[in-house]
Amino acid sequence: MSAIYSVWDTAVLGGGAAGLVAAISAASEGQKVILFEKGDKLGKKILISGNGRCNLTNRTADDVGHYHGAPPSFIKRVLNHLSLDQTLSFFSDLGIEVHEEKRGRLFPKSNQAQSVVDVLADKMEQLGVKVCLHTEICALDPGKYFKLETTEGQVYQAVRVIIASGGVSAGKMGADGKGMQMAANLGHEITDLKPGLVALESKEKYLRTMQGVKVVAEVQPEIPGKNRVMDCDDLLIASYGVSGFTILSLSARVVPHLKDGPVNLRVNLFPGQNMQSVSDLLGRRWAKNPHRSLEMSFSGLLNRKLVRSLLKHGSFNGEQVVEKISDKTRDDIANLLTGWSIPVYRPRDFEYAEVTIGGIKTGAINPDTLESYIIPGLYFAGEMLEVYGDLGGFNFQWAWASGMLAGKGLGS
Ligand SMILES: Cc1cc2nc3c(=O)[nH]c(=O)nc-3n(C[C@H](O)[C@H](O)[C@H](O)COP(=O)(O)OP(=O)(O)OC[C@H]3O[C@@H](n4cnc5c(N)ncnc54)[C@H](O)[C@@H]3O)c2cc1C
Repeated sequence: MSAIYSVWDTAVLGGGAAGLVAAISAASEGQKVILFEKGDKLGKKILISGNGRCNLTNRTADDVGHYHGAPPSFIKRVLNHLSLDQTLSFFSDLGIEVHEEKRGRLFPKSNQAQSVVDVLADKMEQLGVKVCLHTEICALDPGKYFKLETTEGQVYQAVRVIIASGGVSAGKMGADGKGMQMAANLGHEITDLKPGLVALESKEKYLRTMQGVKVVAEVQPEIPGKNRVMDCDDLLIASYGVSGFTILSLSARVVPHLKDGPVNLRVNLFPGQNMQSVSDLLGRRWAKNPHRSLEMSFSGLLNRKLVRSLLKHGSFNGEQVVEKISDKTRDDIANLLTGWSIPVYRPRDFEYAEVTIGGIKTGAINPDTLESYIIPGLYFAGEMLEVYGDLGGFNFQWAWASGMLAGKGLGS
């Protein structure tokens, strides 16, 4: 049982990834810590992450190039406080061993996100952190001590406060931006907020005829000056547009440009090949089975539903016998398959986004402590800051690292 103090050393606002580690970090320094979580359980987003398996970090988590939104020098200084090795050893001490999947993604060996929440909650209990569930903080007053007021009218006092209340993505899991607003009321600026790591909507009606198709494809958004941006992984066609690992991964680069109009995604259904090599491949296949229809000629090569709709979209006759198709038409078909163009015009809503692009501006925050330059004693951690990471475990790494640093209380 944790004691009730009249003034806590540290109050943590939010029981997500960043808040849990911040509380552990502060309590490990010998501080008396209280954590407020408005929801009915801790770590709700951890529980749904990685399809319930929690992609908790990445083999390349120390590479600052995977994080965006704030100056790299700021991000680097925070990440330096919890390197990948230190993260793995922190979790290993708690009992979580990891295994690696493609793209360096690291998951708990149990393949259960619940085990990550369980060990973090267990460590907090061991360190005597007082956890208040169903407790929403609605007002924060700095003074000799911070006063934190709950929606039920209770007031708690703390020497310092860590706001780790998340962004505005997947709001059903708890984060609703009110924590950011509290910081804004105390003088901190918030950038524009946009959904990140999110599916993209398209107005192309024919995509609906391919709904549910999943293929591995190379996708290159046509963004002026960014011709090298490309990803190759799962592409999922949905009723509203496109999704899948490739799209979520590219979305952070695409979304900021959608304010200027639709962005064309160039899709190559034959990764690593060009129009000519695909045309040659089709020529060889058609020579072997010249009696087949164009649509049938793709059997065993590409998803049938996809081929049927795409040929129709490109005004090619899927019934035509392949021996009757000219070399020029074959090249045109290969061109479509390697350079299929899908215009997207907006991201799906925040509700479907894994992260928030934007948040509290870091210019008024000390990168070596995460303490506010405006309100001494006020600290920040996690997604509520303007920093976001690539798909693949980088957002948790940011949450763990910033939580660990804010918890240490290295500031005033
Ligand atoms: C579907 C999905 C899958 C994801 N998968 C991955 C993944 O596999 N790997 C990865 O790296 N990232 C993943 N992410 C992103 C990752 O979950 C977030 O970046 C991370 O959880 C952010 O942690 P946080 O602690 O900053 O915020 P949150 O996890 O949002 O936690 C904030 C907490 O604060 C509480 N709170 C808010 N306001 C108040 C208040 N006023 N008073 C009290 N409590 C309050 C909220 O209820 C919430 O519990 C995923 C996200 C989603 C939506």
